[in-house]
Amino acid sequence: MENFFHTIFADASYPYEDSDIIIFGVPYDGTTSYKAGTRDAPDAIRNVSYNFETYLPRIDLDLSGLPVCDLGNLEIDCLPDLVIDQVERTVREIAGDDKFPVMIGGEHSVTLGAVRALSPECYIVCDAHLDLREEFGGSIYNHACVAKRVLDLGVGEVFIIGARSGTVEEYGLARSDSRISIYSPEDIAARGLDDVLDEIRGKTSGKRTYLSIDADAIDCCLTPGLGTPEPFGLRPEDIRAVVDRFGTVCCGFDYVEVCPIDDGQTAAVAAKIIRELIGLKNKK
Ligand code: MN
Ligand code: MN
Repeated sequence: MENFFHTIFADASYPYEDSDIIIFGVPYDGTTSYKAGTRDAPDAIRNVSYNFETYLPRIDLDLSGLPVCDLGNLEIDCLPDLVIDQVERTVREIAGDDKFPVMIGGEHSVTLGAVRALSPECYIVCDAHLDLREEFGGSIYNHACVAKRVLDLGVGEVFIIGARSGTVEEYGLARSDSRISIYSPEDIAARGLDDVLDEIRGKTSGKRTYLSIDADAIDCCLTPGLGTPEPFGLRPEDIRAVVDRFGTVCCGFDYVEVCPIDDGQTAAVAAKIIRELIGLKNKK
């Protein structure tokens, strides 16, 4: 039979039962405030994943035939609290089967479901935004509130890499709450990313850690496919360095907030980073 294209991530067609890494998409953008469209990200990221070679020279690994399964997109409800519940049940099941969840958003609010399911002690996020609002647009589950909700769960330490946008109240909280560490792009440029990542590694070592990538951590001039674009941000290779450090030691991973309204650059960065994460986890 001829080969057919599927709406699954490239090289992720292994059966669920036999896979160590489980990808799923959450096509939800119900609380986005500026530009809608992150609901289209999972399939945009999957589409561009077929553009890449299966061989990853940087890791010296070929991705074809690895035990990776893409479940497809979650059939989502409408209200954010219900979608977050769906994500929580999904991730609980994946983790309960001793598999590693890779969630593709959708907007950032969906991360809360994964964090609830996995109960990490530490939360590392790359994001332009603090996401520390108590509520926004009438919902405490808005994507602008996700880091605050993670803290409310009792997660002991939150590290926000690339932070450069928030209200005076959010910055007040970030600066006064010892559980929160923020690293602006200027801090990272001055100190060097390795120094920052060494610090975070020191504080999270041996602790159960969740890793979330909000695509807008990257400068919007480099990857403009974003619902809430911010300039003066990080570079794609900075995000890759974060995933290199923490991708193989975290208990769960997501890549959210890609809004494929650009020429595909933002989805391409997401797809490549997810592919390299899969490679790294299979290499170790
Ligand atoms: Mn965010
Ligand atoms: Mn953001």
